[in-house]
Amino acid sequence: MSELPGPALCCCRKALPGAGQPSEVTGGGAPERPSRPDVDVASASNFRSFRLLHFHLDLRLDFGLKEMSGWQVLEVVPLEAGAHTLVLDTHPSVLIHAVDYAVPGPRGSPGRSVSLTYRVEPFSEFGSSLSISLPQGALRPRRPFRLTVRYTTTDGPAIWWLDAELTCGQTRPLVFTQGHSVCNRSFFPCFDTPAVKSTYSATVRVPEGVTVLMSASHSVYSDTDHAFHFSMEFPVPAYLVALVAGDLQPADIGPRSRVWAEPCILTSAVKTLGGSVEHWLSLAETLFGPYFWGRYDIVFLPPSFPIVAMENPCLTFIISSILESPEFLLIDVIHEIAHGWFGNAVTNASWEEMWLSEGLATYAQRRITTEAYGEVFTCLETVFRLDALHRQLRLLGDNHPVSKLQVKFEPGVNPSSLMNLFTYEKGYCFVSYLSQLCGDTKRFDSFLRAYIEQFRFRSVVAEDLLSFFLSFFPHLKESCVAQREGMEFERWLNDCGPPLSEPDLSAGAVLTKPVQHLCELWGDKAPDLEAIGTFDLSSWSTFQTVLFLDRLLDRTPLPQEVMTQLSRCYSSLLDGMNAEVQIRWLQVVVRNGFYPDLPRVRTFLHKHTSRMYTVPLYEDLCAGVMKCFAVEVFYQTQGRLHPNLRRTLQQILLQSGAMSNGTPTALLPSSSPSPVPTPTEQSPAGPVPLRDVNVSA
Ligand SMILES: [Zn+2]
Repeated sequence: MSELPGPALCCCRKALPGAGQPSEVTGGGAPERPSRPDVDVASASNFRSFRLLHFHLDLRLDFGLKEMSGWQVLEVVPLEAGAHTLVLDTHPSVLIHAVDYAVPGPRGSPGRSVSLTYRVEPFSEFGSSLSISLPQGALRPRRPFRLTVRYTTTDGPAIWWLDAELTCGQTRPLVFTQGHSVCNRSFFPCFDTPAVKSTYSATVRVPEGVTVLMSASHSVYSDTDHAFHFSMEFPVPAYLVALVAGDLQPADIGPRSRVWAEPCILTSAVKTLGGSVEHWLSLAETLFGPYFWGRYDIVFLPPSFPIVAMENPCLTFIISSILESPEFLLIDVIHEIAHGWFGNAVTNASWEEMWLSEGLATYAQRRITTEAYGEVFTCLETVFRLDALHRQLRLLGDNHPVSKLQVKFEPGVNPSSLMNLFTYEKGYCFVSYLSQLCGDTKRFDSFLRAYIEQFRFRSVVAEDLLSFFLSFFPHLKESCVAQREGMEFERWLNDCGPPLSEPDLSAGAVLTKPVQHLCELWGDKAPDLEAIGTFDLSSWSTFQTVLFLDRLLDRTPLPQEVMTQLSRCYSSLLDGMNAEVQIRWLQVVVRNGFYPDLPRVRTFLHKHTSRMYTVPLYEDLCAGVMKCFAVEVFYQTQGRLHPNLRRTLQQILLQSGAMSNGTPTALLPSSSPSPVPTPTEQSPAGPVPLRDVNVSA
């Protein structure tokens, strides 16, 4: 996820049909566009004029200079006469050296090459535009041409260079890319929109001993030219092109699945996932049809990976920190598997409708967990996440435009800042409502299979999904379900606030009731310790424990005597549990200013250097009376943090007044007013506070 400022949102547009015209499997390319161009894409002016057939990357990675250099060849077809300029998305971190043009000769021969003029201009704070002047009179509609862009890129938002000290094994440096949502324009010039899909291939050269992996359907290492070669035979949008290079070792965990990880964590990764992945894939195929992508591999990345997991096709990227929390790992991997159908095979055409990927993937994930682990487990996980959704609603208020399923970006808005729970959970509730309308989960599964078959390898808007739904269930169309009062599809898409309905989760009561009961016991001024003692948290599932702790967090501030008793009952026990449990207890500690357990916060922050575990704790420390402690721990641990995370934490410390231009203001009274608003105090148009959100892409 990007660290750039958040969205300025206003009222939403109506979904426009037809954004996702077919992109042939063999060709991919630019579909018809919605009438309003995407404001986050510099190349939006091109979409009607060109079709991208394929692109090839040829890159050399230099870990010393932290540079990728080489060239990109784009195979493009003009769709109409008179196109003189081709505009691509790029980024200030990309240095363009030259652009050449060629029309392939007979039998694929390279053809004569001509140098072209180009200019790079600012577009937004998350990108630039690369305008290439095409040769006058040379273009013929439907006649493909090739552009070769020679370039060097360094450390833009997509590319994360990790010195050896930041890896798990601490022996070799590592680099990975993260394209979602609009970061890959800093990796290679592209049509950086989910509406444009194409096949791609790549040749990557690295120093000896380094392994390169990409989100590709085929990969091979060639001894002849000491290079890794990749090809993706299915069309994908630019954001799903991903690369990782480092000291990575493989281990097979199924007939089509392999785990890749640094040697020091490989055994643990295999032990945790072995045997399960093929089971989940097979279940998903039973529900949603064949898995198109061939392989499903997983690569574990060091704690610097900025999100939890990313559904890069054929190769899920996942943070190694989640390995110690098996229930969360299970959900995250199943969620990424679900993206193989929802998000990757059928993609939202615009980032303004991210719910089309995330809402459907979350629904599919829960169908898989229901089949694999039962309704009770799935309901518990859903209750836990819907709790978080309502928590975010309380923070934002019911009228925040980010709570709409269809949002509308203003120019300059970075779509990466729209990663929030609404796209996942409100989207999930809408999909569940559609399932409920059809009255039979299995029939809805068959609708989803048909939807994938109809739209696979295309990009769609909400209207495509909803029209197809109504044509699949004609009796629902006849009874006008889309206009049913209070539950109009239009309201689902365009209303702010909570979901119009939530699925029945009462099947999870056997697991959620004890949590609710224990919360109630702790709600009294003088908790009944004898009754409380009958609850054995060590026998609970992780999701029960985190639900309990989240609900305790909601009750902050707690009386100090209650905090003392909570600490006596649980502190040591929770300390021995996984990081997802620990961080929630430590947030209870920090938000309630409970000093006796502060050493545990220090130990945790010395151990965990990932964004998902540090940022929430620093935000809490800085929002309360523990700013000086936050500064102290930051100085002790900053050497082990990725520079991007270091900057984020510095910003949190600066905004809270704990630090002034890199200097601690430790003598400031801890209650002194913050010089700038904290995230929750910002205007509705400001960044969306992601506190309490553990986001997988
Ligand atoms: Zn997702």
